[in-house]
Amino acid sequence: MTTDLAPILTAITAQLRRRRDRGVLPRYIAPLAAVDPRKFGLAVLEADGRMHLAGDAEEPFSIQSISKVHALTMALETVGSTLWTHVRQEPSGSAFNSITQLESEHGIPRNPFINAGAIVVTDQLITRLGRQQARHDFLAFMRSLTDDGASVRYDEAIARAEYDSGFRNVALANYMRTFGTVQNNTSAVLRQYFHQCALTMTCRQLAESGRFLMTGGRAPSRRGMAIASRTARTVAAVMMTCGHYDGSGSFAVRVGLPGKSGVGGGILAIVPGIASIAVWSPGLNEQGNSLLGTEALELLVEATGWSVLGRA
Ligand code: GLN
Repeated sequence: MTTDLAPILTAITAQLRRRRDRGVLPRYIAPLAAVDPRKFGLAVLEADGRMHLAGDAEEPFSIQSISKVHALTMALETVGSTLWTHVRQEPSGSAFNSITQLESEHGIPRNPFINAGAIVVTDQLITRLGRQQARHDFLAFMRSLTDDGASVRYDEAIARAEYDSGFRNVALANYMRTFGTVQNNTSAVLRQYFHQCALTMTCRQLAESGRFLMTGGRAPSRRGMAIASRTARTVAAVMMTCGHYDGSGSFAVRVGLPGKSGVGGGILAIVPGIASIAVWSPGLNEQGNSLLGTEALELLVEATGWSVLGRA
């Protein structure tokens, strides 16, 4: 049975646009605190190539930690499985920027989606590729995953704002350097990490960037080079267990899909074999995940039965 998605997306968008409680904007990154909280976009790419858009799905926004999905993918493809000697694969149960577990766990972050883990992934990319090449290749990789890649770019103002005020990330990187988990100059690693977070994309482009996760690595874009199926499966598994920080459990209960959030209010979610979904609503819940974005996915899964864990 095929579901007609257009009316479902229209109804979800109309319902959530009326909401008064839209969550809170992140205050620690000034340009993100200035975004209009009424923005709402939704894009669903189906396995047969059909794309469905609603609301502000064509408006670029800061993808922030959703880039951790793509950085992990690139690291698994270029560094390989030795990556897992530097970062683990376990849910953290802690805030995205927590430092506490690092001390008891010998400087090895719990997973690649908390900030500490993502900084390690970036460090590994720099060890393998060098600073400039890592900056260049990551952007090229993101562009290759989207159908109109040229418009995907680093927002230099956001990257700079984070570099100027990201004291917690500075602490994480330096602390891990004392254990040798981070190997390169920490300023260089952070500069690249902040650039990754400062990528600007639309919901449509983000949904396209998740195509390889929907297809198990095949034809990640219309241009089509494959990503190893093991990489795709691994990344989806980490999204399922760690994609929403200390809110990962409740996201699994409510939505039941591998997903990754960003503090810019975006979420990328995957229905294996069926769809790649991107949603954007800038206001966040207590765990720093999009409040209405999560609700939109919950409504979508309810209407389509797409949860990988069965119908509610
Ligand atoms: N750039 C943000 C940070 O490092 C990313 C956090 C997020 O999106 N959860 O704090």
